[in-house]
Amino acid sequence: MRKVKNLIVGCGLSGIVLAERLASRRGEEVLIIDRRNHIGGNIYDYKDKETGITVHQYGPHVFHTNDKKVWDYLSQFTEWHRFMYRVKAVIDGIEVNIPFNLDSLHKVFPKDMAEKLENKLIEKFGFNKKIPILELRQSKDKDLEFLAEYVYKKVFLGYTVKQWGVKPEDLDVSVSGRVPVYISRDNRYFQDTYQAIPQNGYTKMVENILKNPLIKVELDTDFKDIKNQIEYERLFFSGAIDEYFNYELGRLPYRSLDIEFRKHNCEYLQSGPQINFPENYDYTRSVEYKYYLDEKSNKTIVSYEYPCPYEEGKNERYYPIPDDDNQKLYNQYLNKAKELKNVYFIGRLGDYKYYNMDQTVASALELFEGVKK
Ligand SMILES: Cc1cc2nc3c(=O)[nH]c(=O)nc-3n(C[C@H](O)[C@H](O)[C@H](O)COP(=O)(O)OP(=O)(O)OC[C@H]3O[C@@H](n4cnc5c(N)ncnc54)[C@H](O)[C@@H]3O)c2cc1C
Repeated sequence: MRKVKNLIVGCGLSGIVLAERLASRRGEEVLIIDRRNHIGGNIYDYKDKETGITVHQYGPHVFHTNDKKVWDYLSQFTEWHRFMYRVKAVIDGIEVNIPFNLDSLHKVFPKDMAEKLENKLIEKFGFNKKIPILELRQSKDKDLEFLAEYVYKKVFLGYTVKQWGVKPEDLDVSVSGRVPVYISRDNRYFQDTYQAIPQNGYTKMVENILKNPLIKVELDTDFKDIKNQIEYERLFFSGAIDEYFNYELGRLPYRSLDIEFRKHNCEYLQSGPQINFPENYDYTRSVEYKYYLDEKSNKTIVSYEYPCPYEEGKNERYYPIPDDDNQKLYNQYLNKAKELKNVYFIGRLGDYKYYNMDQTVASALELFEGVKK
């Protein structure tokens, strides 16, 4: 029987951060396994050989955070390419900024109408405020109510129905209500203090995190195939919690994506890195990768995302589906997990939560602090 001190299942962001902390802070040996044939989990990227463009294999990743601790932690392993994300959506055939803001207002409405709506918004809510649609809908003013309805239908509804595969009437108002109108001319998708992309790509940053000689990585290795041949003092599992327990209480559902990458014979195809299509086509968004690191080539690579249900063995688990039933099922698995000794569930799949990268890092750092010596 093979023996290891720490076994980490999953070489994604949560697994590598824990491995790095255990190795560098505690001087402990760590074995990371992953069933994929590469490191990095969903943040894996690679340079396309022909064009030199860095492509994100599992969809576009832009790092953004207000958490200085997370920023400082990752900055030990990468230089950053300063990057502020700008996302557009095609509404009525016109590209407008997302979140829908004062500039968007002026793009889709005639001048007089846009000015009237702008003045009413500023008067009622103030400048530089994000107002959830639900709140806007509740205002007694007919014009603002019209605006709320417009943004809800044009920006939110079609996109969400495609993304989650639900009927509009089944959409929870608490979800739709969160879509904001941004009373501002700030055209950035995020307003976080730190926004950037690793200068040499995510995979290079992951390689740097894994550089400690106490960390060993074995790829193409599924936990279920080795679990009876290995003994560990601690197990950190960043795979799906229901899979760990052999689905004995039922399956936790996920949304997945069919991502189609196309190479185009032109320098640029789009006006910016991400275009959303709430009203047209079967894909939700198209993403042009050369924008991220400002890479030059006379060709370009664009991905198109077709949301679909997760099916085991066919595609990847991308998004947990947060609703009451699923949360109940997850909690039941969590109760089972609490009965295990020295087994920790981590990351997006282990916690069944849609973590952004910064939240993934923060939760791994926090878990590390609580792990007994
Ligand atoms: C389409 C998409 C876009 C995103 N964009 C952004 C963004 O712009 N900004 C942002 O901050 N965040 C973004 N995220 C979130 C980000 O990807 C996650 O926060 C992060 O990758 C989570 O890391 P993780 O380690 O928890 O999971 P993962 O990256 O999924 O890693 C888990 C690893 O475990 C392995 N594994 C699972 N089960 C087993 C098993 N039984 N045996 C062996 N190995 C196993 C898997 O192969 C995988 O490599 C995005 C996510 C998606 C899906």
